[in-house]
Amino acid sequence: MFNLSGKVALITGANTGLGQGMAIALAEAGADIALIGRSDPAETLQKLSQFDVKTHSILTDLSQADRVADIIAEVVTKLGRVDILVNNAGIIKRNAAIDFTLDEWDSVMNVNLRTLFFLSQAFARHIVSESKNGKIINIASMLTFQGGIRVPSYTASKSGVGGLTKALANEWAPHGINVNAIAPGYFATNNTAALQADEKRNAEILGRIPSGRWGKASDLGGAVVFLASQASDYVQGITLPVDGGWLSR
Ligand code: NAP
Repeated sequence: MFNLSGKVALITGANTGLGQGMAIALAEAGADIALIGRSDPAETLQKLSQFDVKTHSILTDLSQADRVADIIAEVVTKLGRVDILVNNAGIIKRNAAIDFTLDEWDSVMNVNLRTLFFLSQAFARHIVSESKNGKIINIASMLTFQGGIRVPSYTASKSGVGGLTKALANEWAPHGINVNAIAPGYFATNNTAALQADEKRNAEILGRIPSGRWGKASDLGGAVVFLASQASDYVQGITLPVDGGWLSR
């Protein structure tokens, strides 16, 4: 039920962090992997080499959404098909809402929401044209549920991801596409380096996590394989928290 052999998973922003962890989990379940991002994914490719799967990587800046159809076409040409899309690439800008700039707004919205939508659309067009099934997994956040502080564009983008996940599930479930999201809690990656380094915030965050530790990229493996596999065929439009219990407090 969780076996992904014969499937191809496309994952954005997988040279590091959570994307790398999810690429490893999907490969371990048997999927061939396409890595899409702006930085060389050499470290991830090296980690994937332990599995008997094919890989392909495409270097592109996902702040622009104009190449999305080419990305899908190239993955299909190189790996023969595409079945799973993980929209993981994302950025965060921290500043007081009163001082927030147009660039801090647009740069975050473009990667986290605009490109996520148009890449999903290109993927869905391909799945529909092939009359087959597909899985879309969006990476949301605790700020899909909460407001956060000093991160207004990030909160807007990730709240948008939660809404869009439901909207696309409503439209694409009839076409055999499952659209769901994962909301990671506090994970130790580049994205949270500033929080981890801030002694006070670090202690506040740890004090609220029932599991008592920051998440590791490998902690997302089970959730992403579940949502990418046949096991979740009747699951639609959810945002699944993987947060060590943060939202339960
Ligand atoms: P990360 O280590 O900073 O990874 C982000 C990834 O996105 C990197 O591969 C990055 O590439 C890529 N990316 C960013 N902008 C891009 C662009 N314009 N074009 C192409 N690729 C781009 O952060 P992470 O923590 O693994 O974050 C992954 C996802 O999880 C994000 O959507 C984030 O919002 C979400 N998330 C993280 C946490 C957490 O606690 N860490 C919690 C909730 C949600 P570069 O390496 O080149 O920058």
